[in-house]
Amino acid sequence: MSKENCIISLQGVNKVFDGTTVVDNFNLDITKGEFVTFLGPSGCGKTTTLRMIAGFETPTSGKILLNGEDITKIPPHKRPINTVFQRYALFPHLDVYDNVAFGLKLKKIPCEKKGKPAFRHLTAKEIDEKVAHALEIVDLDEFEDRDISTLSGGQQQRVAIARAIVNEPEILLLDEPLGALDLKMRKDMQIELKEMHKKLGITFIYVTHDQEEALTMSDTIVVMKSGEIQQVGTPIDIYNEPVNAFVADFIGESNIYNATMAGKLKVRFLNHVFDCIDDFPVNEKVDVVVRPEDVILTVVKEPSKDKVTGKIVTKVFKGVHYEYLVQVGKAEVECRDTKDRNVGDLVTVEVEPENIQIMKKDVTNNIYTEAWINNKNQVVIGEDPFDCDVTKLLKDSTLSEDGYLIGPDGKKYDLNDADVIAEIGLDKIEMIDGFDNGDTNGEIVSVVYKGDHYQVMVRTDDEEDFILDTPYTWNEGDQVSIKVLPQDIKLMLKGDIAKYEVE
Ligand code: ATP
Repeated sequence: MSKENCIISLQGVNKVFDGTTVVDNFNLDITKGEFVTFLGPSGCGKTTTLRMIAGFETPTSGKILLNGEDITKIPPHKRPINTVFQRYALFPHLDVYDNVAFGLKLKKIPCEKKGKPAFRHLTAKEIDEKVAHALEIVDLDEFEDRDISTLSGGQQQRVAIARAIVNEPEILLLDEPLGALDLKMRKDMQIELKEMHKKLGITFIYVTHDQEEALTMSDTIVVMKSGEIQQVGTPIDIYNEPVNAFVADFIGESNIYNATMAGKLKVRFLNHVFDCIDDFPVNEKVDVVVRPEDVILTVVKEPSKDKVTGKIVTKVFKGVHYEYLVQVGKAEVECRDTKDRNVGDLVTVEVEPENIQIMKKDVTNNIYTEAWINNKNQVVIGEDPFDCDVTKLLKDSTLSEDGYLIGPDGKKYDLNDADVIAEIGLDKIEMIDGFDNGDTNGEIVSVVYKGDHYQVMVRTDDEEDFILDTPYTWNEGDQVSIKVLPQDIKLMLKGDIAKYEVE
């Protein structure tokens, strides 16, 4: 990107709250007129990053440049940036016109008085014109005299957007602006926001944890996890070429498998060697992603000798296509296809080499993207429950005696069955010789010497892998049990906590 085209540049930005780093070495250049979305699970630092761009928070270290100038220490009202929040914060006692005109009435612009530079308020005519233009963009031109209380949620959000764009900012920040709307309204507003972006031609920086919203609207998506950027790219790049298992899982339905490179352009998973197009060293442990729509199913009479064979265990009609779950040994394969087949059918499972996405394994952490919380507030990884601290899922929350999560505002949540991503550091897993001494049992499937320690992979009965660092020598094939302390399991909720609220 040429320097003239870059409107905002975040350079090595960090933010630390109470000793915890919530935004970690964030580097990003945003182009003028771009629609950029920060996407990631709750608590990954999206809002904090946005608030630093707006000027409501100051980075602990690093710089933010606007059109090449350092604005890190400039207060919010001096930045040509406006923010639209999820809760629209309109004035209920003012009508639509006055809500939008509010800021303009206070605004002073430079002028000349008797040949000298001075400041003046906008004239009533100037305010009228600007308000009319903003309301036209959000498609509320007939609504000037309406009371806020008579508007739907979507219309109120449009007033909030009009109020932000009436100041003619260079950048509009939108923090989950559609979060309070129902699904239908949300979909309509997504399309309208994209239209508004086109009409205005300014830069939009959008925050969401909804991957579909991000894919629909953005020019560029920034996927974040635990304060760090995982991947920056167009929606198509991120969907088709995720850089790791976290991105692949977060961006859409996918099959993710532990795999091993079995030869040049050959990868082994589902107990079978597939041709692939990514070149990784032989024997390297990798993650493989296959999208459900790329799985080719063929009904067969008996198991094939040279192809993966499985059985259809569930079938759901989705309007245009069917979704099938195929059981292959202990593994499951999600498939999407327009052909009608039956539960119980024996099928072969094939994937074209170019549809097998191979990713370097993240060996800095164990990440379990299919974990969930059970009715004892334990996290279930594979089929094994681990004690964990669910209050980490919501800031300042506590657990009630009967097991509900209680938010700082008194709201009550039932986390039973909640889908989460669980993360465990390689140094946080204790391995004990023999079975039944820990949380779960398994067998050592690989031992790699890493210079001053060993990296060991333990595979449990339900084929979940735990990688850990140890100073001691262990052997492949050893039967072990593993143990993790509750505070060492990091949890991230998939989706919004509001889903789990109970009366
Ligand atoms: P969500 O989608 O839930 O809004 P997010 O990705 O926007 O999440 P942030 O709101 O940026 O995440 O929060 C990142 C982390 O920083 C969280 O753990 C949060 O509790 C913490 N945090 C945010 N603001 C503060 C603050 N003022 N003081 C202390 N911790 C904070």
